[in-house]
Amino acid sequence: MSKASRGRPYRVGRSRTGLGLFATQFISKGRFIVRYTGPRITNDEADKRDNRYLFELNNRWTIDGTTRKNIARYINHSCRPNAEVYFVGHAIKIRARRNIQPGEEIGYDYGRDYFDSFIKPKGCKCVKCMEKRREERRAKRQARRRAKSRRKGTRKRR
Ligand SMILES: [Zn+2]
Repeated sequence: MSKASRGRPYRVGRSRTGLGLFATQFISKGRFIVRYTGPRITNDEADKRDNRYLFELNNRWTIDGTTRKNIARYINHSCRPNAEVYFVGHAIKIRARRNIQPGEEIGYDYGRDYFDSFIKPKGCKCVKCMEKRREERRAKRQARRRAKSRRKGTRKRR
């Protein structure tokens, strides 16, 4: 465990998408989890820096969360998030949207713009989307099986 996450209710760990942030303790709904930190830069400057960790605060400022000290950068996107972002002045904070159990990966919704430009092209790997794809595969398998047994049935009748 890194020094940064000692005594905190989470740890950085391996996730489907590389690294992710996981609860190590029960985190109750509404509880503050971590702050999204990094230098505050103007949006014009942010447009020049092209990285995935730019978090827009408002129409003027952006936080560049590239630094590894920014533990919140390890939080992955989720389409069924258990955490959410809130702003306190110029601070970007993340809190539990519902009760989070130890071992659960922490995720918040990155928003439409980020999703469309970075996640959608590769396919979302959040729990919700993985479940959805599993369901779709199962439905396809069942449809194939039904089609096969229909064919067998036809042969039998001949
Ligand atoms: Zn998803």
